[in-house]
Amino acid sequence: MYMDKGPLLYTEKPVLGISACCMGSPVRYNGKGWNMLDNLGRDKSSFIWVPVCPELFSGLGVPRDPIHIAGESGKDVWDGTGRVIGRSRSDVTSDVIEGCNIGAKILEKSKVKAFVYLDGSPSCGVYRTSLKNKRIGKPPGVFGAHLFERGYFLIPVLDLQSPLKWWDCKRRLLAFLWIDSAEIKNKRDIYEVWYRYKFICQELDEPWAREKGNELANLDHDPDEEYIEFFKKEIMDLLRKPSKTNKIINSLWKNYSYYRRKTGETIQGILEPDTKRNITTVARELSLMERASYDKEVFFGTAPVIYRDVKRIEKDRI
Ligand code: SF4
Repeated sequence: MYMDKGPLLYTEKPVLGISACCMGSPVRYNGKGWNMLDNLGRDKSSFIWVPVCPELFSGLGVPRDPIHIAGESGKDVWDGTGRVIGRSRSDVTSDVIEGCNIGAKILEKSKVKAFVYLDGSPSCGVYRTSLKNKRIGKPPGVFGAHLFERGYFLIPVLDLQSPLKWWDCKRRLLAFLWIDSAEIKNKRDIYEVWYRYKFICQELDEPWAREKGNELANLDHDPDEEYIEFFKKEIMDLLRKPSKTNKIINSLWKNYSYYRRKTGETIQGILEPDTKRNITTVARELSLMERASYDKEVFFGTAPVIYRDVKRIEKDRI
């Protein structure tokens, strides 16, 4: 066995909030809903799902008038400068705020840190608040603004339909959850975390990671609690941002080169970086790389944390 530091393990089943209409609940204003989780296959059971519908919790019922934001965005609704208006011009602002607060309480009680949202909704949307091109109010939606401001890890539901985007979401999500719950007490702990996280940080934002690396190298004493909290928050904020296909392919190749140097072995199915392939193939290569790295205990810095339930870890050890 080649002794290297394998991945960090996240052993609690991750909990994901989700816009209820995306999990098949017919709660949209027109009584529709879609099951968007089928594409995940077996991955679906790797999570605990918490569906919420802030508009339903507003007491508006199904079917109901479609709503829109009058004002700049859902953020203004919380600030008191924006309103939520129904098609019949009724003002439902206080109902929608109440519904969002109920949704937020449920997420909090269920210890949700990440949410899969339907973009385009004036409630759950984050980057769009209209499914049509005609934009009424600017993003984010009322619930989306609440989650965004509170630092939730936000996943557009369409990313569940693309194998590569989903792979990117999952590895960033696990890194996000792991560091959120990590007990970091001193300089040594910070260095340990940075050693594992610097590769994914470099992929997501090279200049920031370089500067952070230099700053950490010059730490001459144990940092205080405020510094540690800020360090965690900066990394978590970075992990909330998606990567790009070309960056992921470059990272895959760098990690694969490292793997070959360490083990002297190749992995069948991993292609040269310049080879033309579709995103499904890239996602498969990443899974192969992840599996081989775990088996050989070679660190795969691009995905520093993996989820393994305790029973599976024990089985793997036999
Ligand atoms: S409020 Fe959110 S969960 Fe409810 S129907 Fe609209 S997008 Fe779906």
